[in-house]
Amino acid sequence: MEKLICPKCQELKLKSIVRCHDGTITAMGTSDFYDEGGGYHFHNPNIGNNNYSCSNNHSFNIKNKISCPNFNCDYGKNDKPDITINDDLKKGDLYFNSDAATIKKDQS
Ligand SMILES: [Zn+2]
Ligand SMILES: [Zn+2]
Repeated sequence: MEKLICPKCQELKLKSIVRCHDGTITAMGTSDFYDEGGGYHFHNPNIGNNNYSCSNNHSFNIKNKISCPNFNCDYGKNDKPDITINDDLKKGDLYFNSDAATIKKDQS
């Protein structure tokens, strides 16, 4: 991702440094090919799953699909990243707490 701001800080109009803890990616087969016009496509059905925390002790998770690098192709480009904010991160707790209450953000 090119630009990433903590969604909670954005909401509260705060500034913070965001760190990524761990990332996983599903292991489905990818396909790359050249279309009729010779354009390169890379279609990746895998979903990236990354946990982040910011310097204001917010924690959030982003699931997103990697879009096709071909300018003319819409593959993956209409899929908005799925962002979940974890509200109850304890101070100093750098680990993602799966029991924390989560707020599902509607990005539409
Ligand atoms: Zn934050
Ligand atoms: Zn494509």
